[in-house]
Amino acid sequence: MNRSVHPAGVAAGCQFASDNTAGSCPEAWDAMARANEGCVPSYGDDPWTGRACDAIRRVFECDADVFFVFNGTAANSLALAAACQSYHAVVCHELAHVETDECGAPEFFSNGTKVLTAPGEHAKLTPAAVAHVVERRRDIHYPKPRVLSITQATELSTVYTPAEVVGLAEVCRAHGLVLHMDGARFANAVAALDVPPRAITWEAGVDVLCLGGTKNGAGVGEAVVFFRRALAHEFAWRCKQAGQLASKMRFLTAPWVGLLDGDAWLRHARHANAAAARLEEGLAGVAGVEILGRRQANAVFARLSPGLAAGLRARGWRFYDFIGAGGCRFMCSWATTDADIDALLGDAAAVAADV
Ligand SMILES: *Cc1c(COP(=O)(O)O)cnc(C)c1O
Repeated sequence: MNRSVHPAGVAAGCQFASDNTAGSCPEAWDAMARANEGCVPSYGDDPWTGRACDAIRRVFECDADVFFVFNGTAANSLALAAACQSYHAVVCHELAHVETDECGAPEFFSNGTKVLTAPGEHAKLTPAAVAHVVERRRDIHYPKPRVLSITQATELSTVYTPAEVVGLAEVCRAHGLVLHMDGARFANAVAALDVPPRAITWEAGVDVLCLGGTKNGAGVGEAVVFFRRALAHEFAWRCKQAGQLASKMRFLTAPWVGLLDGDAWLRHARHANAAAARLEEGLAGVAGVEILGRRQANAVFARLSPGLAAGLRARGWRFYDFIGAGGCRFMCSWATTDADIDALLGDAAAVAADV
């Protein structure tokens, strides 16, 4: 195992593998503990769920319809299904989580809607790329594009600026597409851009956002936020049928109160982004490392010499070879400490000196 040790004495080798290796942040955990007191109505008719909805509306400065589900795959696929008929298509980037990491759930929950992918640098779509996919076929024999899905922050840790979201929304309006945002790391995007959340969502033309809680610091739970409220028609039934209606809903919603009241969500996201910046700077100085991409959020992508990657893994470090970048991905979270980063960098330097 590597030499770095967490305060609890747990080896930290897996932690850069994903932001999901982190536990629940103290604010979410504390809210869970407070929500555990007494009896409250079930299935969402409880005060915690009301407070969580209000907190999300406050953060977005608008009167959205809000639903809570267990994970991001459910949030994305149910939101997409709500916008699509079975003969429709969802346009997304070829690296999009909805295409590569959801086991066909978007197609499954929409009863056959096809996912159509487009390429784009740094995991970002351009208006021209979207227009190309939509315009190349318009005949009755091809599924009809109905949704554009973009990821914010992207799978390669880049972000769309407000102007870029507006540009994509204009293509959507021109072609009658709904604009869906996969915001599993939405907090990291807000932190990176330093803009109000509304500036990259409804104000820019986003119709529905899947807002990530888990990677941000909750133990479990994502929110589906409908800015175009007509899309939320009968969504509660869709969630229930998909097994996504929590009976003790307060445990899914209290963490949101903990995250959002007092702005822990943004503090944690800024921390994760800063940790990635620190790690990136350190890795850039290690022999055998080439930093890849244009990191703006909380993941570092780097090409490691084979000996270095193997040596780090032999010391217990876990990280993914990432499909998109042809390199390794190191993910930071709210829980990443300077000591964790220094331990990884120390091992990298030691292995690099040996190979
Ligand atoms: C993690 C992630 C999700 C959600 O994944 P689940 O494992 O289903 O919670 C969705 N989109 C992106 C881009 C992600 O990174």
